[in-house]
Amino acid sequence: MKGPVKDNLYPIPAHTLSTSLRKFSCNNTTFVAHTAKAAPCSTWHRRFGHPGSKILQQLVTDKLICTSDKFSSRMFCDACQAGKSKHLPFHLSSRISTHVLELVHCDIWGSSPTVTTSGYRYYIIFVDDYSRYCWLYPMKRLSDSLACFTSFKNMGENQFNQRLQLFQCDGAKELVEGIFCSFLDANGISLRVSCPHTSQ
Ligand SMILES: [Zn+2]
Repeated sequence: MKGPVKDNLYPIPAHTLSTSLRKFSCNNTTFVAHTAKAAPCSTWHRRFGHPGSKILQQLVTDKLICTSDKFSSRMFCDACQAGKSKHLPFHLSSRISTHVLELVHCDIWGSSPTVTTSGYRYYIIFVDDYSRYCWLYPMKRLSDSLACFTSFKNMGENQFNQRLQLFQCDGAKELVEGIFCSFLDANGISLRVSCPHTSQ
């Protein structure tokens, strides 16, 4: 192929593209671009390397691309689903608690980058599976976990007149080893440990 060269570039005569030239402005500067034929939004999504819907919507709003269908943020892309999803969908649990304290979920957060004025840097949370009610206790040390749990268990069992039956946590060693585990055993509480890295 041969063509005219100007400043080491191959200029395309504008009159040959007049039907597909499109003007747009950005920062007070007007640009002229050669646009492609109208194509479905899904095609543009693939052409630009699968951007998020906000980016594609911006391109449509600014009339930078010619679309042959209406943009929808609910557009479904198989490749994005397979390539961007970090988890498979969670299955709904078929287990249903029938009364308070039948099952209690527990998690520890910390250490906090900011220590409270009273010196607390950890937090332990108990969630009742039946009522979804949460109790949160601040802790100065991880070893305070048992004292907080004992306090929660005594309060709960006394207030609701029910025995705590199942205790579920993520396998933190403060909760599944040593005196904490012995305490669960001694009180007839079953320990359940969720699979690693699963928040459900
Ligand atoms: Zn995609």
